[in-house]
Amino acid sequence: MDMADVAVVWFRRDLRVHDNPTLQRALEENDRVVPLYTFEPGLFGARSRWIDEPRIGRRRARFVRESVQDLRQRMHERDGELLVRHGDPGSVVPAVAESVDADAVHAQRLPGTEERRTASAVESELESVGVDLTTHWTHTLHAIEDLPTAIEHVQDTFTPWKDSVEANSSVPEPLAPPESVPTPDMDGGSIPTLSELGYDERTDDTPGDDTPMPVPGGESAALERLQTYIFERDRLREYRETRNGLLGMDFSSKFSPWLAQGCLSPRRVKRAVDRYERERVSNDSTYWLVFELRWRDFFQFQLAKHGDAYFTPGGIQDREIVWNRDETAFRRWADGETGFPFVDAAMRELAATGYQSNRARQNAASFLANTLRIDWRWGAAYYESSLLDYDVASNYGNWAYVAGVGTDSRDRAFDVLWQAHNYDPDAEYVRHWVPELADLPPRYAHEPWRMDADEQARYGVELRVEYPEPIVDPNMHFDGPSS
Ligand SMILES: Cc1cc2nc3c(=O)[nH]c(=O)nc-3n(C[C@H](O)[C@H](O)[C@H](O)COP(=O)(O)OP(=O)(O)OC[C@H]3O[C@@H](n4cnc5c(N)ncnc54)[C@H](O)[C@@H]3O)c2cc1C
Repeated sequence: MDMADVAVVWFRRDLRVHDNPTLQRALEENDRVVPLYTFEPGLFGARSRWIDEPRIGRRRARFVRESVQDLRQRMHERDGELLVRHGDPGSVVPAVAESVDADAVHAQRLPGTEERRTASAVESELESVGVDLTTHWTHTLHAIEDLPTAIEHVQDTFTPWKDSVEANSSVPEPLAPPESVPTPDMDGGSIPTLSELGYDERTDDTPGDDTPMPVPGGESAALERLQTYIFERDRLREYRETRNGLLGMDFSSKFSPWLAQGCLSPRRVKRAVDRYERERVSNDSTYWLVFELRWRDFFQFQLAKHGDAYFTPGGIQDREIVWNRDETAFRRWADGETGFPFVDAAMRELAATGYQSNRARQNAASFLANTLRIDWRWGAAYYESSLLDYDVASNYGNWAYVAGVGTDSRDRAFDVLWQAHNYDPDAEYVRHWVPELADLPPRYAHEPWRMDADEQARYGVELRVEYPEPIVDPNMHFDGPSS
């Protein structure tokens, strides 16, 4: 048999040239490769199944565009070209394969159920042009082939799973970027504009120094952030102590948007941590960043194991919970108008920036799912629309976990008032994102309903006028852990 000559590399959420085993394999086995990305109309500009929101909000659409732009640039630097299309992969990938007379098509293997269906559609369409699709699992720290158990036996609780991978599986070294990407001479096509993708063109969400979440898409920006956060600003040293922070760029890594689009490989992060440990310090903070990346891995493998059950109201355990479907209450939550300032701050931050800290996410999610008892999937769908770092496994997995239908069914209701006072003792976060409460002392900023009429007049915050009354009785029993 002749050596295969041309391979198409269909990029999905692996928008990078470093540590990209899919690209590497195609380069090893072929003389030329055709890197391809297609913006899927079923996602960009499409509406959510559960709520009245776009599946991909404008901010994330912008981030993906920038990531594709950067990937093309990195191909150019390697004498290659990235083909960019706007269309369904089931038709685009086979059409490109046919037009270049491809011998093989390689792509990233993803655990999401829709992503799997898309890959199956591509695979069966490729059959008609006589080319095989080969997929590669490349987005986790641990290799899927190197897990202690087969995917269908992956434990459903994090700690035993983590203990077993720490003991039995090692993290492969990340691959270096290829020096060249020989692409046949062809027109790459233009990158669709935001309006072609179905969004308003606006300039105010282009990241700049004064944007609250200044993260441009792309591998170049990701690698720069890796260097800045860990080495230049030396923030890894205290990550474990600062990671529950709420405001600012450096209390946590902010790697998530890049990890989600695959602009950054988790193994590349691990390598930077290893180097930091050798050169500077090895402590519980350096361990903890990798520990969090194992949480990320855990959700990826959980989704691969459970498939559609991951998205059911009762979750993977099929718990019997009657969820509320109160659209008015849902809207108040989404709009940051619940009258619980800590929750409202989180939701307004999300709307303004596309980001929330882990602490804010847990509280806002618990409030919707455990306090209001609204279908957790509506909340997850709202996050899917709004988050810059949306990842199907991490998002639906964390939501289910907080809602008590996830990997273990412990009650995870958060006492949001306790959380507010503990994690935002000076109400800095609340006063930043809920400016109408900016002049209140911390206790009232967190619990404005405690003000009597005179105090409301004195501080100029009249409840129901300047700020809503609490959507549920704040004296109700918040059960569950408060930590
Ligand atoms: C309701 C809810 C929804 C979430 N949705 C998403 C999502 O769609 N995409 C997403 O990447 N994360 C999600 N998370 C997890 C976590 O909140 C974010 O990964 C984190 O806040 C991102 O900021 P960072 O990169 O600075 O995190 P860091 O604290 O610096 O952590 C480093 C990396 O570890 C991983 N990580 C950390 N915590 C978690 C976790 N709990 N689960 C999985 N991975 C984790 C992320 O890749 C993160 O970038 C969600 C959490 C909750 C509670």
